[in-house]
Amino acid sequence: MAFHKITYNEKYRFATLHNYGCTFRCPTCSYKLRSGPDGMPGHVHPKPQRFLERQEMEQALRSVTVEKVFFMGGEPTVAADLPEMLLFAKNALGAKTSLGHTNGSKLPLPNLDGANVGLKAWDEKVHLAHTGRPKQPIFDNFRAAFDAGMELKANIVFVPGLVDLDQVEAVAAWLGGLSRDLPFHIMGYIPVPGQSYPRPTVEQMSAAETACRKHLNTVASSHLSSQEALDLSAKDDRFVVRRIA
Ligand code: SF4
Repeated sequence: MAFHKITYNEKYRFATLHNYGCTFRCPTCSYKLRSGPDGMPGHVHPKPQRFLERQEMEQALRSVTVEKVFFMGGEPTVAADLPEMLLFAKNALGAKTSLGHTNGSKLPLPNLDGANVGLKAWDEKVHLAHTGRPKQPIFDNFRAAFDAGMELKANIVFVPGLVDLDQVEAVAAWLGGLSRDLPFHIMGYIPVPGQSYPRPTVEQMSAAETACRKHLNTVASSHLSSQEALDLSAKDDRFVVRRIA
C-alpha cells in the first residue's frame, strides 16, 4: 500500500498525504459512498493508476508553506513510505505530524505527534463483526499512544443495529478512564450502498451525546447526509484543498 495523492489547504497551511488501502473490512465503510456496494472497504475507487515516489512527495511538500502534515486514506499506517515521510515532515519541514484518521492498528509511531483514532466497538463480538479484527490490540495501542504523550482524539460511528448506543457509551467510558479530557466525536452512520442499517435519528444522536458526556468533557457529533458527506468542502473550509501531487 502507498500514497497516491497529496492535497494542500492554503488557509490553514496543512498538507495531507492520501494512502490507498486498509487492514479492516468494515461493511459500513464510508468509502463505499463513492465505490458502490462492491467496493473494497477502505479503498478508493477506481484504484489509483500510479503511486507517488518518495522524492516527488518531498518535492511537493517543499513547494508549499506547511505547518502540519496529515496522513490518511483507508488506513495510512499501511503505507510503506510512512516512517520516512514522518521523519521528513518533522526534520526537513519542521511540521507537526498527525494521522488524520486511523483505525489504531499501529500506534504509537516515531515522529508522529498526534492521531484521530476511529474506535469501532466495545464488545469483541461486535468488533469482529464490524471490522474482521479483534478489539484488544487496538485499545492497547491507543493506551500506549496515550501513555507516550501523543495528542489523541477518538471517534466512533454510531450504526443502529450494528454499533448501538451501549457500544458507543462503553467506548466513551473506557476513554474517560484514561482522561476525561480526550476529545470524542460521534459520527452518525451515513448509509452506504449494499447495507440495510439505518441512519440514526436526531433523537438517537442526542441520546448518544448525553450518554457520552457522563464520561468525557468534550463530546461532539456529526449527522451528515450522504450528499453532505460527498461534498464536505461546502460545510467546512478545512476541506477546501488543491492537489499538489
Ligand atoms: S477502518 Fe475505516 S477505512 Fe478501513 S474499512 Fe473500516 S471504515 Fe473503512
